[in-house]
Amino acid sequence: MTDNLPANLPIVGRRGLMLVLSSPSGAGKTTIGRLLLDLDKDIALSVSATTRPPRPGEVDGKDYHFMNVDRYKQMISAGEFLEHAKVFDNYYGTLKGPVQDELAKGRDMLFDIDWQGAQQLAQNARSDLVSVFILPPTLAELRRRLQDRGADSAEVVANRMSKAGAEMSHWREYDYIVINESLPRSVNAVLSILQAERLKRDRQQGMADFVTELRGGSE
Ligand code: 5GP
Repeated sequence: MTDNLPANLPIVGRRGLMLVLSSPSGAGKTTIGRLLLDLDKDIALSVSATTRPPRPGEVDGKDYHFMNVDRYKQMISAGEFLEHAKVFDNYYGTLKGPVQDELAKGRDMLFDIDWQGAQQLAQNARSDLVSVFILPPTLAELRRRLQDRGADSAEVVANRMSKAGAEMSHWREYDYIVINESLPRSVNAVLSILQAERLKRDRQQGMADFVTELRGGSE
């Protein structure tokens, strides 16, 4: 079959895409994101900067770039963030440099960021963005997941529950919605979204030359 194709077909390349996962805290986006990174080696996590203290087990440079408020503000002034926002009394931001490098190399990036960050990316980089909002199946299940995580105090859990409704009100701003009832099914859904988005015509650079060549050189 391939023997019949011209040997010098132009290469079809692809610019990387930005896959954003957002959800109220506890709906499962971090777990879904981790599984996605295990299953698909062509997507890498964008490690955000934050001023919040590390949780037990979190590693600087892997989970977040932990920093103080002064350093964070310096980075805002220097224009080093692609987006940044205050979430639950702490500051968070996506580093511009590493993301731009990876996208240019055709690598996809995964973002675990809130609706404010997703909004900013939609304004600055709409064509590279694919956004997915994860919803919990019920509010009771959301509470259970936040409590079971055991990483936060009762006060923090109560605070996050009280903010969940406001966060969920942003679901309409996202390209896709996944209700996280079953983890394997949700991971599969996000994987399918990623695979389909990679094949979008506009993302496949060099396609016009490829097809011209396939057609024997005519437009
Ligand atoms: P956590 O402190 O639980 O890791 O994250 C709290 C919230 O901040 C989550 O909703 C998470 O998605 C969001 N977040 C983490 N990093 C960023 C970031 O770089 N930008 C924005 N806008 N939100 C972030």
